[in-house]
This record gives sequence, structure tokens and C-alpha cells, in this order.
Amino acid sequence: DGAPKSGERSDHIRVFLRVRPTRRPSGFFGLDEESGSVRFDVPPDAAGLMGPNNTRSQYDFRFDGLFGMTARQEDVFERVAGPAVANALAGYNATIFAYGQTGSGKTFTITGGPQRYEDRGIIPRALQRIFQQCDASRKAGGQATVWISYLEVYNEVGYDLLEDSATGGHSRAGTVPGTKALEELPRVTVREDEYGNVHLGNLSLHRAESEEEALNLLFQGDTNRAICETAMNPVSSRSHCVFTISLEQREEGSPVVRRSKLHLVDLAGSERVHKTGATGSLFREATHINSSLLALRRVIDSLHERSVRRGAARQHTHVPYRDSTITSVLRDSLGGNCKTAVVATVSGEASNTDESISTCRFAQGVA
Ligand code: ADP
Ligand code: MG
Repeated sequence: DGAPKSGERSDHIRVFLRVRPTRRPSGFFGLDEESGSVRFDVPPDAAGLMGPNNTRSQYDFRFDGLFGMTARQEDVFERVAGPAVANALAGYNATIFAYGQTGSGKTFTITGGPQRYEDRGIIPRALQRIFQQCDASRKAGGQATVWISYLEVYNEVGYDLLEDSATGGHSRAGTVPGTKALEELPRVTVREDEYGNVHLGNLSLHRAESEEEALNLLFQGDTNRAICETAMNPVSSRSHCVFTISLEQREEGSPVVRRSKLHLVDLAGSERVHKTGATGSLFREATHINSSLLALRRVIDSLHERSVRRGAARQHTHVPYRDSTITSVLRDSLGGNCKTAVVATVSGEASNTDESISTCRFAQGVA
């Protein structure tokens, strides 16, 4: 499954669209799952829903795959993340992103819903598959070790979502106002070695012996994340979160150790500044979010350009990884041999039409 099919470029970044279910679905767009195309058809009397620059009423987009309101988590996992998980197990890095406005289903897609077992998202399903294979290779006499880390990037600064769990200390409850500020937490540093591998300082790595241990780490990190979000802003997810599964594998009798990483990234809400009505420090936040999402977009564009070039032109394509923290962190895990996929999430409501179109635009830029 992980190997590229003939004719398919191995470094192609795949882009999917997922529509969050709603009780009042918008009649303004239609999906054609067969061709992967989406058409927004906004009547003139709905002009009030559109931003100032949206004067046309018809918009067409094309994706590598579409997930409508009834799509199942299992299928989303298989199509979006299946190749990335296979790639990581084969010893290559891989990255999956969720991109979209707050409330459109990014966290539901990456982590899952809290209630039903079948609502488990990409992370728990990836862990299940990875531990299945690791257990099998251990039974066959090989070695396989899984490490977990969980990074949050807020205002361009990286923080460790699992920082206290190593010492058995308290959670990030200390970041609630009145105790310890987010700014006082250790900052994660990014360093690149001579081989182009990224090393993160002040980010704890936790060895997980079982799927259950790894799920506990996910839960701990999400608890810290929730505490922070509540302390800062109740409605909006303003930080990027990167859950990383690192693998170290050695087959029986082989001296070769294969190292790989799978990053599952829940990006900050993509909603535009004008809508959040942010001022002061909130405005600074919004500016950071937009500029880091734009930096990500530019990196993916350059990778795409590089993938279609050949020879010297390919070597010399500049990829601006250093323009943001999130792209610096992921630089050894995007493009090239790495399987990369983006799930753009949109809400099915009519009132979100302009944000949905802007999400598709962003995603199409990378398609
Ligand atoms: P985001 O992370 O983009 O802000 P969430 O993933 O938190 O959005 O989704 C917003 C709400 O909608 C949550 O309550 C979530 O459980 C629910 N939700 C999102 N996508 C789906 C889906 N495909 N099916 C059912 N519920 C969903
Ligand atoms: Mg979220």
C-alpha cells in the first residue's frame, strides 16, 4: 500500500476535502466524489455571506479525494493516513495535516470524537496499526521501539504538551492565570544536523511499550492542551499541535536500524483576522497564525514545484522552511520520500461559505 503505484509520483502531496456534518446543510455546494471536484454555487441574494473580494458566485475545486458528511472515520484513516503509516513502518518519515477554520472538524479528524469508539480519529488508528506491526516483528525476533512526543506551537514558540508527565509532576494546570504563565514554560528549540535531520530541544520523548501507553500520552497531552485553550480563549484553537510517533526498528539478524517519524498535525484555525475581530495581543496571535499557515503553504508549493522539476532545477528549488516554526519542525518530514497528506476541513453550514471557499483555495494551492 505504501509503495507508489506506477505513474504516481512518490513525492506528490495529496490533498483531501472533508465536510463536517450539520443539521442545516448548505445548498451552496456540491461534491462529485467520483472526480474529486467540488462546486460552490452561491446565488446573488446570498452575497452577504461572502467576503468583500468574493464577487463571483461560482467556484470550482478539485481534490485527490472527498469525504462528505456521512464519511466514516475508518475510511478517512485508510485513504488519508494509510499510505503514511505504511511509509513510517517502512522507515520513511511522513506527515498528515488537518487544515480549516475552527469548528470544521480538524481535531475530530486527527484525534477523534470523545464519545463513540468508531469516532476514533487518525492518531489512535495509526497507533493501533503501528503496534500491531511492531508486535508482529518482535515475535519474529526483530526489535521495534515506539516513542511519542507532543508539541504545541503557539505564537511561533514551541511548547511540550507532555513536559511534566516524565517526572510524574502536575499537568499544565499551572498555566491557568494566577499561577504559571505559558511564557514561563521551557521553549522547544529546533536544530538541524549535518544530515538534514531535525532535532528538537526541550521536547520530551516518551517510550511507549504498548498501544495503551501511547493512548495515555495522547490523552495527557490533550488534557494539557485543553487547559491552555480554556485559559487563553474559550472558542478558538490558536495553536498548532504536532503529535509525533517515532519508530526505531531492526529486523532479526540485521545490523541496520531504521528510524522514522510520523507527524499528525492539527493546525491552528484558519479563519481570517477580520472575522475574529481581534485587537491587541489577540491580533498579534491572529497575525502569527496567518503567517505560519502562509509559510506552510509556501513550503508545500515549493515542494510541489521541486517534484515536477528535474536535474539541477530540482536541486536548486529553494524551500523556505525557516520562515516559520511549524515548517522548521517538519522540514525533514515533508515532500521527497515522505508521504504527505492534507485534509482540508469545512463546515457544511451556509454561514461559513466564505471560510469554506477560502479553505478550498488554500488547499487547492497545494493540490
Ligand atoms: P476543529 O478542531 O476544526 O475546531 P472539531 O474537530 O473540534 O473542530 O469539531 C467541532 C465539533 O464538531 C466537535 O464537537 C466535533 O466532535 C464535531 N465534529 C466534527 N467533525 C465531525 C464529524 N465528521 N462527525 C461528527 N461530529 C463531528
Ligand atoms: Mg480543534
